[in-house]
Order: sequence, then structure tokens, then C-alpha cells
Amino acid sequence: MSAPLLRVEDLAVHFRASGAGSAKKLVRAVNGVTFNLQPGETLGLVGESGCGKSTLGRALLRLGQITEGRVFFDGIDVANADAAAVARLRRETAMIFQDPYNALNPRMTIGNAIAEVLRVHEKVPAGGIKTRVIELMQLVGLSPDLIDRRPAALSGGQCQRAGIARALAIDPKLIIADECVAALDVSIQAQIINLLIELKSRMNLSLIFIAHDLGVVRRLCDRVVVMYLGRIVEEGLTEDVFGNPQHPYTKALMRAIPEIDPDRGLPDDPLGGEPPSPLNLPTGCAFHPRCPAVMPVCRKDPPPATRFVNNCRVACHLYQDQSSTDQQTRETIHA
Ligand code: SF4
Repeated sequence: MSAPLLRVEDLAVHFRASGAGSAKKLVRAVNGVTFNLQPGETLGLVGESGCGKSTLGRALLRLGQITEGRVFFDGIDVANADAAAVARLRRETAMIFQDPYNALNPRMTIGNAIAEVLRVHEKVPAGGIKTRVIELMQLVGLSPDLIDRRPAALSGGQCQRAGIARALAIDPKLIIADECVAALDVSIQAQIINLLIELKSRMNLSLIFIAHDLGVVRRLCDRVVVMYLGRIVEEGLTEDVFGNPQHPYTKALMRAIPEIDPDRGLPDDPLGGEPPSPLNLPTGCAFHPRCPAVMPVCRKDPPPATRFVNNCRVACHLYQDQSSTDQQTRETIHA
């Protein structure tokens, strides 16, 4: 097994809430998150809205703050990176955002938006920029005829392809895609996902795919991390998490996907009731008010450190006494 491209250790992101009445309250958006990403791997980050997955994605690229813990990207200590290391991080990582229109400058043509990235990061000599822009447009399935169009003259799918072309322009080692198909029509979503699948195999991309659409994650991702209220509750290979989930929350999410429509997104209310506010986390296991398997210990003690159970890494009191062959299973998961 090669060294991880990204190593996340006990990461926490906390911030003061804004807004009337809660100005002094601390939002514990991400807590004790630990995982690795191997080169060429696609990792799906899933969970209900507000579970901290977007905050986590931004923190990994130093686009948002890190309160505690460590993130190592290809030798860069992200939390403690100086200006030169942050500049290298910007040259080697990219983010694709949810709203393809907002991600592009409305006054800039698509060609100039892609050329800007090549220019800023000095990826090709000035004389070769236009040729490279056209190559990138073709790579993401955009006709070069659109090079002088502005975002308002393009469809949502075309704008998202332009956003992907901008991300690819830096030849990134890592892309984080944050709900990058959620704002698109279903048929366009499928086209963008097929494009990502194709790019992944052609370019050996390392990708973190933040999504609430389980069908998309199942099709695209090698491994899945399930988050609930800022914590990882389950992690494993996609086929294991989807085929034999262990954590009660993951089980509920999987049960809520109808057989007849496996590509449907996460339901808004998979378990009945809203998740508790990250401003006011329940004691013990944060999932206990909604958990069908809750036990007295869950109301007072946080879940133990993750255990390997049937190939998945799970944080739950149900598996407190489970003896696991951690090393053997870890090797299986990361093989
Ligand atoms: Fe449910 Fe308890 Fe497991 Fe939390 S720790 S998911 S409340 S069984």
C-alpha cells in the first residue's frame, strides 16, 4: 500500500455562531475526524445537511479554519502551513462547488476563466494558453465554439463542466467536489457523474466527493465516510457500507433508499425528527435521541473509538465488546 495522499487526524472545526440569540454559542461543526485518502482513490463523504461535511471539505484545503487536529497533504502540514506551503496547496488541489453559476465570474468568458487559472499558476507558456484552454474544454466535453460565451449564455451543466475544466487546469493531485451535481437537473447530473467517472479512470484523480445523493456515491466512490453531527460514524469500502452497513444511522439511511429508485438522494428525514443542533449536542452519543437501538449507556457516554466490524470502521456502543482483527481488516479496507 502506498503512503496516503491525505492524512486527517482528530480534526475539529469549531466556531462562534452568528445571529441573534446565539452569538456566544460554540458550533462544534467537525469533531475528532480521522481518515486517510490514498492516491487515485475516490472517497464519498455523506450525511444529512448540517452534518459538517462541507465545513470539513473546506478545512482540508485551508479554505476554512482548523481548530484542532492535523491534516497532512502530500507532505504539507495544512494546519500549520506558511504562505509558501499554502501556495503549493493551491497549486496541487482544487475545489468544485455546488452552484456552477456562482463559481464563475459572470463578466468573464469561459475561455478567459480557464485561461486565468493557467496564467496564475504558470501552467503553460503564454503562447500555449489558448491551445491548452481548448484541450481542457474538449476534455470536459465542452465545444470550443463556446470559448467566448459568458456563464449566463450557458446551461448549468455547461457551467459545471467549465468549473471542472478550471479545476483540472492546475493538474491537481486532489479535487474536492462539494455537492457538485446537486443544483443540476437529473439528466445533467448523470452526464457530469459520467464525466467524473471517465476523468477518474483516465487521469487517476484523487477525489473527495461530498454528496447527499447515495446513488451517485455508490456509482462513483471507492470508499465511503458517513458523518453525523460532525463525527464519522462509519467508514468502509463502498460495497461494504452499502451492502452491509453496521451503524444504526447508516442502516437507516440505506433503508430509506427505495429499491425501485436506487439513485434517489438522502431523504430529508430518514429517521423521523430533525438532527439535534450542533449548537447544543446531546450528551453521550449525539445520535441517541433518534436511534432505534439506543441503550442506557448511549445517553451518558460518547461512543468508543471506532472498531472494525465486518470490514467497516464503526463508532457505536453496540460494538463495544466486539473483538476485531483491526490490522487485518484495515489492510482489507485500504487494499
Ligand atoms: Fe445508537 Fe447507542 Fe450506537 Fe449511538 S452508540 S448509534 S445511540 S446504539
